[in-house]
Amino acid sequence: MPFSDFHGNADTVRTLREMLAREHFPHAVILSGPQGAGKFTLAQMVAKAMNCLERPVTDGLPDFCGHCAICVRIAEADVLEDRFAEAVEARENLRDADKRETRILVQTHPDVLIIPPDPPQMLVKVDQVRHVIHEIYFKPIEGRERVYIFSEADFIKEAANALLKVLEEPPEFATIFLLTDNPTALLPTIRSRCMHLRLSPVAPTELEQYLEAARPEWKPRERALVARICGGGLGRARSFDLAAYVAARQDALALLAPAMGSGDHSGLFRVTDSYRAGAEGKAKTEQLIRTMYSLLEDMLFLRSATPELVRNTDIQPELARMATKAEFEWITTAAQRLGELESGMRRNLLRSLALDNFATSLER
Ligand SMILES: [Zn+2]
Repeated sequence: MPFSDFHGNADTVRTLREMLAREHFPHAVILSGPQGAGKFTLAQMVAKAMNCLERPVTDGLPDFCGHCAICVRIAEADVLEDRFAEAVEARENLRDADKRETRILVQTHPDVLIIPPDPPQMLVKVDQVRHVIHEIYFKPIEGRERVYIFSEADFIKEAANALLKVLEEPPEFATIFLLTDNPTALLPTIRSRCMHLRLSPVAPTELEQYLEAARPEWKPRERALVARICGGGLGRARSFDLAAYVAARQDALALLAPAMGSGDHSGLFRVTDSYRAGAEGKAKTEQLIRTMYSLLEDMLFLRSATPELVRNTDIQPELARMATKAEFEWITTAAQRLGELESGMRRNLLRSLALDNFATSLER
């Protein structure tokens, strides 16, 4: 898995590798870009290249081998969601007193620490930054460089202030990565002490080409759909659960059917009845709501004569038919009610009933 396996954003990758070649890597780098653009993948690649035992050179620039003892251990954190889930589960199993004092951290190599946002608030807490401060001033244990990756740089205030202290006096042998889809949310004083590199979304056509190799089981129109739904996020597109998306969209269309004049509610009730209580029902409902937003948006694009922005391209004729029946006002009201439904779900209203109410309220 050398740098050449990273798709898109060739200029940013080259900049990072040139800085590696000059042996003068910045102490802190903000890597910004949309969800799924590959921010974490790229930070992991740099961590490997900094510490790789073989450190091969490709295209005249430093690379990493991917198979030495150090590369392999760093790569154990490549699928961050899995390591994160393990860390959260381990904390859940602690005694209450210990639970409160334990913060989520992911470390598969002693010199590379990943600091994910801490649940349930999903923000970086001050104790996590304190953990960084405790070790960052000590020389690397096995590698050449200590690397700290804040996988979603969303800090509570005290944590941001603590981090600022480190950025004011960074040690020679450490690099901090702040990954974010919203760099303006970072304190200006943090931003001014970091180098800022941006990853842009991959163009839909480029993403489709990539998916042709990565997900050969998908048909061309399915690849086109996923490329648009994922908004240029390559990582998100690669692991996209197409079947779950299509199922949620089928349900969303069933919810809209009575409002579109189907006159039939039995299909609607069959669908809403399948949205139950519990964690599984929650995830299913969240996906339904996200998908419903994308359908309403597409109808808006079609009504405003910008069909090139439509994301659900595979059902565009059906959406166009629906759009002719839906006035602007109806679409905006529907989006507003969907927002109300979303906040109602957070208060744990009965799901199937809330969905029934939402669907019937849209009928004219
Ligand atoms: Zn290596």
